[in-house]
Amino acid sequence: MNCDDARILMHGHLDGELDLAADLEIQRHIEECPRCASEYAALLAMRTRLKDEEFRFEAPAALKEKIRRALPTPAPVRSGGYQSRRGAWMPRVARFALPLAVGAVLALAIAPRTIGPSIDQQLAGEVVASHVRSLMATHLMDVASTDQHTVKPWFNGKLDFSPPVTDFAKDGFTLVGGRLDYIDGRPVAALVYQHGKHVINVFMWPTTGDATSAERIETEHGYNVEQLTVAGMTCWVVSDLNSLELDKFAELIRARG
Ligand SMILES: [Zn+2]
Repeated sequence: MNCDDARILMHGHLDGELDLAADLEIQRHIEECPRCASEYAALLAMRTRLKDEEFRFEAPAALKEKIRRALPTPAPVRSGGYQSRRGAWMPRVARFALPLAVGAVLALAIAPRTIGPSIDQQLAGEVVASHVRSLMATHLMDVASTDQHTVKPWFNGKLDFSPPVTDFAKDGFTLVGGRLDYIDGRPVAALVYQHGKHVINVFMWPTTGDATSAERIETEHGYNVEQLTVAGMTCWVVSDLNSLELDKFAELIRARG
């Protein structure tokens, strides 16, 4: 991990938003890099200061009332529809995703490793592991929203690129949120979609190789993985969704350009 990546991820580390693997990497970097260590110490100090009672004040009742009146009345939630609050959505995910995730981790643990996997197979393995972790931990989404105009700006300042974010709800693939992840030794954008009972993770980062659209479907530990390059982005799509439907989803991403 280099200092640029560390600077991006240390906020997530501070807030306990990273998964275990990324947490350990940033921890190691902070221990070894004096510059990042002092930056992290400054962040810690600032957080401590902000918790200080001295910096808090109670808003006057009149102001509270004024703000409350200025806010729109919340629309009633459709039954069976998605609520964009994480708390409301997570239990539904957990109910079907957790047993699958546990099964997958067992599969990962007992699956024989092939000798000297190619770079791409390594990446596919990393992508699947991240997908599984995202379903297991309470870390599927940092920003939970079906609104692409909420999800896209959320990545601003967290990554050194701006990932394209599109909702494909009208085609049956609903954007439900996004988060920061760590793949191939760099911070990446992860977009979360839902199709029926299936969760799809789309990992994205700027492509380093030639910009030709290489596409591939393969099955890795029972998950379908598709890689495509589109609009200068390397995209890895992973889900337990069948390959036919996952290909349909990848086609939507490709068509968006
Ligand atoms: Zn550093």
